[in-house]
Amino acid sequence: MLRSLSSKARGSQGGPNQAILEELSVEEGCILWGVRVAVLPQLQTQVIEEIHEGYPGIVCMKSFACSYVWWLAMDSDLENKVRSCLMCQQNRKTPPGTPMQVA
Ligand SMILES: [Zn+2]
Repeated sequence: MLRSLSSKARGSQGGPNQAILEELSVEEGCILWGVRVAVLPQLQTQVIEEIHEGYPGIVCMKSFACSYVWWLAMDSDLENKVRSCLMCQQNRKTPPGTPMQVA
């Protein structure tokens, strides 16, 4: 795998993403990268929403997302989502084991 990637990347003008693109394969409409699904840009917001709904909080979202989906700016996109989410902010500020405080 590494050898084929480096030989393909050599002399290519595709930039650093070229190696990643070589690994992508399309199956039944989904782009697969290894076992993870590479999410198209127009679907990333929707995927974030769905992951966030089932796995609120940055740690849960990241660990779920890292297992199943991938895109270039996934980490920062997830962080931005949590940063702009009031619930996540409140959950993060509440130490585990203590009841939620009424501000
Ligand atoms: Zn949230």
